[in-house]
Amino acid sequence: MELPSNAPTNGWYNILPAPGPAVRLTGRLRVPWVVVGAGVTGLAAARQLATHFPQQQIALVDAERIGFGTSGRNSGFVLDQIFLSTHPPARNLAVAQRRMRLCDGGLNALKRLVSQHDIDCDWHEWGKLHVAAVAEGNAGLERQIQGLQTLNVPYRFMDGDEVAAITGSQYYGGGLKTQGTALVNPAALCRGLARSLPENVTVFEQTPVHDLVRGQISRLVSKNGEILADQVIICANAFSPTLGIARNAIVPAVVYASLTRPLTTSEQAKIGGEAGGFGLLPISMNGSTIQRTPHGRILVRNTVGYGPADTSSTVRLAAARSNHAASLVKRWPSLNAGMIEHTWGGLIGVARNQGHLFGRLDRGLWASAACNGVYGMSGGTMAGILIADLIAGKSSDLLSDQLEIPKPSWLPPEPFLSALFRLKNSALAAAVQSGARKLAVSH
Ligand SMILES: Cc1cc2nc3c(=O)[nH]c(=O)nc-3n(C[C@H](O)[C@H](O)[C@H](O)COP(=O)(O)OP(=O)(O)OC[C@H]3O[C@@H](n4cnc5c(N)ncnc54)[C@H](O)[C@@H]3O)c2cc1C
Repeated sequence: MELPSNAPTNGWYNILPAPGPAVRLTGRLRVPWVVVGAGVTGLAAARQLATHFPQQQIALVDAERIGFGTSGRNSGFVLDQIFLSTHPPARNLAVAQRRMRLCDGGLNALKRLVSQHDIDCDWHEWGKLHVAAVAEGNAGLERQIQGLQTLNVPYRFMDGDEVAAITGSQYYGGGLKTQGTALVNPAALCRGLARSLPENVTVFEQTPVHDLVRGQISRLVSKNGEILADQVIICANAFSPTLGIARNAIVPAVVYASLTRPLTTSEQAKIGGEAGGFGLLPISMNGSTIQRTPHGRILVRNTVGYGPADTSSTVRLAAARSNHAASLVKRWPSLNAGMIEHTWGGLIGVARNQGHLFGRLDRGLWASAACNGVYGMSGGTMAGILIADLIAGKSSDLLSDQLEIPKPSWLPPEPFLSALFRLKNSALAAAVQSGARKLAVSH
């Protein structure tokens, strides 16, 4: 497994002002605590550790800039709950309820931080609308209703006309609106979270950890320096195997998104719908996530790839952009492909059974990995908080929930895993692929 090397095409990141210079690690640093990975999970873990141990120094290290990696390049849904149609809640109700409580806890933690630190990330508590295309019929919506009812989640059914009034699109035959979820610019959220960390956290960006040498004092080796730490917390998600953990546990899947330029006032008037922004999640595994931002941009998410390499492959990015353009025009025929300004891919870590690697792995070594693609922003945040609580010996109902989430089940090693991923007719491939909430392209 390689180190993070994302293409510099993340729209959410690129529409923000350029960040100040990165603080990179040079020389040797001795700290009690090091957190590897400054996505939402690592940011939350470092913050919570700093709160539990206010007199101790915590180093938070990332290979790239804050907001540049997956946590800053997603669709921007901070979810209160989610389930996949392939994993309906009734199949394992207790786990589904735990996941829902964990997502809700992470969402509330982020909400508090955004308000407390005045983080400018377009936080918008719009909720989410699960949508089905006219061509899909109602079967998917009915399955979704069953799941929401099983979890006691209030929802409102909307017919095609009501969905069109929100979206300005005739493409959808119906939808289910739920409250709770917030929509954001995720890169701005990550930057704001990093900027507001307690003083005893030092963030080192563009500092990839090449090697983790374990011992009573662990050594984390980067290009221009090294960190010696008593306790190591790995929040590197799909890159965890590079550091020797979560081998045969995580499928490194790539998910792609595009962002348009801001539509002009007349373009927005032409498509109609809610100009303040909205968020649509597809009922179909092959569907597209859509976010319309308060600034009149439209995000489209569909298309998948495999392994870190596909995140920055120009061929894959071009194919994804063309799929996104087709999806955009299907929904809003007055828009066109030329309006797409940014296309990017991001690596997610998917466990075959939707499991989560969480907890103490060895003396002085802790981890939280396998975001499973669909509840990473809120679920990852909660897991980061809880890993710090676990380390500090704190107990809570949410920590009990997290500890009861199953561990990732075994996956075959490379090259079998990537071959299976691309195979459409095996049970493992189906499980893995559905976990990434995707498959193919055109919808
Ligand atoms: C296109 C797309 C759309 C998505 N949409 C949503 C959505 O709407 N809502 C949602 O909740 N989730 C969504 N996700 C998933 C979500 O982004 C992830 O679940 C979440 O970011 C996981 O957070 P994390 O902190 O655990 O991992 P990551 O964000 O992957 O963070 C891990 C960090 O570790 C760093 N790292 C890794 N290895 C090393 C190393 N050796 N040395 C130093 N640093 C290292 C990486 O640079 C990275 O910053 C989406 C993902 C994609 C790609």
